Amino acid sequence: MLEKYKHKRKFDETPEPEGVQSTGMGPLRFVVHKHRARRLHYDLRLEMGGVLKSWAVPKGPSLDPASRRLAVHVEDHPLEYADFEGTIPEGEYGGGTVMVWDRGYWQPVGDAEEGYAKGNLKFSLRGERLHGSWALVRMKGRAGWEQGKENWLLIKERDGEARAGAEGEIVLRMPGSVLTGRSMEEIEAAGD
Ligand code: MN
Repeated sequence: MLEKYKHKRKFDETPEPEGVQSTGMGPLRFVVHKHRARRLHYDLRLEMGGVLKSWAVPKGPSLDPASRRLAVHVEDHPLEYADFEGTIPEGEYGGGTVMVWDRGYWQPVGDAEEGYAKGNLKFSLRGERLHGSWALVRMKGRAGWEQGKENWLLIKERDGEARAGAEGEIVLRMPGSVLTGRSMEEIEAAGD
């Protein structure tokens, strides 16, 4: 499942991990990367089947159930990628700065593979910033953000962790790295 990931990258040029498919034992990890490439976006990655299933969310997650966020399904990433923070060289695939914006564990409601295949994945997050119930829902018959890629919606479900309006815009309220506390500028300046 990592063929696309490997095909897009030159591992002697980028600091990103080459990675192997894991056996996927133990609790399921998730990560949200903040990624300043051609445009700023957030990548939600959920451990499933020994890889990180990945969605690029241009506006990032919102805690407001009314703010459904476009989530473009992108290629699987290796599990090691969950810890990656650094700078992908200009000119390489995804060139730009990558921050670990949130991380933790996720739990599917029901069978994850089945929900994923149906395009209706309900789950809870136990991260440092994101908590509670969420859904990823595949949209039908819409032109892609990028050609050939499926559009999904990332939706905060109504529960005690939901927040309306500006309070729900957690990506604006909490801009730094949960891994190192650094800003995007500090990560970029460190050149690691
Ligand atoms: Mn990205």
